[in-house]
Amino acid sequence: MTQTSAVRLRGITKSFGSNLVVEPLDLEIGRNEFFSILGPSGCGKTTLMRMITGFETPTAGSVELDGKTVDRVPTRQRDLNMLFQSYALFPHLSVYENVAFELRVRKTAKAELDRRVREALALVRLEDFPQRKPSELSGGQRQRVALARAVVGRPAVVLLDEPLGALDQKLRKEMQFELKRMQREVGITFIYVTHDQEEALTMSDRIAVMSKGRVLQVAGPTEIYDAPNSRFVASFIGSCNLIDAVMSSADTVEVAGLGPVPATVTGGFATGTQVVVAVRPERMTLTDRPTEGSFAGVISERVFLGDEWTYHVKTGGTELTVRVPSGETSAALATLPEGGQVWVSWPTAAGRVLPAD
Ligand code: ATP
Repeated sequence: MTQTSAVRLRGITKSFGSNLVVEPLDLEIGRNEFFSILGPSGCGKTTLMRMITGFETPTAGSVELDGKTVDRVPTRQRDLNMLFQSYALFPHLSVYENVAFELRVRKTAKAELDRRVREALALVRLEDFPQRKPSELSGGQRQRVALARAVVGRPAVVLLDEPLGALDQKLRKEMQFELKRMQREVGITFIYVTHDQEEALTMSDRIAVMSKGRVLQVAGPTEIYDAPNSRFVASFIGSCNLIDAVMSSADTVEVAGLGPVPATVTGGFATGTQVVVAVRPERMTLTDRPTEGSFAGVISERVFLGDEWTYHVKTGGTELTVRVPSGETSAALATLPEGGQVWVSWPTAAGRVLPAD
């Protein structure tokens, strides 16, 4: 990154007693970036976030905000704000006063305060309800008030820890788009903690995928999805066929029962190394007759999901999952029963060779 980063972590690590929960890590987050920290429960996301805020003291390493070390700067003096799932609005204060609270504490001049509060309310599309009390709002609207409150002071960085966790599925989806729109409009760096891969893909400029205290990959959503660097990332983001294979030469892989399979080898794996070939189900093609390079199999199960069919196909000793958009299922394929004979193929570029563990 050429300009100063909004956040820079150098060798940051955290242990609780003998329990290492965040392994030493270097990370840079750009200004105005929507950056997600994604991983399963207990992988260390919240601990990492708390070290950035200053709520948690790193065991070693250093945190920089806007180019300056803040290791000795308490949370309230760091140029950041936070939003949690369990945000607390003041129940006796109006929407307007909830959002204005921080500015009043800072003794912001009246006209400036009013302008900023109205701007923040417009940003979350709540400009029509300034006098309502939190109890008179829906869950989604309350969450918007909390969001307006987090950005009204224009901090350089806002950290959000699973802020949509309490909302129902439909509202979550709406809020994902809203959050992204808002972040673009205000130009604040958002650091978003989530275990929901779809949420991270939808909103982020970049994603850090964590597992067991380690950051495995940092990249944009399409790269994370198309070019996962490990078995964990491939299976945690979207669904993925992970086919056990062995390197039969420097650039060919073989699967027991199938023989050589199409795959792009990027890492240097020695001949004889156990690997997995990762292929997304939607990159596979299913036909009712053999095509060049296809593998014969039988349908063990098929499931209709509205916009697509998911087929489970047994080939050799391997069970593959293939997704076929409903509109593209040929009549011949659609009438095949479970147990019917099919052929599966995929392009070389769709198969990624990854370490086995
Ligand atoms: P979740 O999505 O469930 O919130 P997470 O990825 O945010 O999980 P953390 O909350 O960072 O994970 O926790 C990582 C690990 O550190 C867990 O094993 C947790 O039990 C442990 N841990 C967190 N805080 C403390 C603490 N104050 N003392 C001891 N162990 C802790």
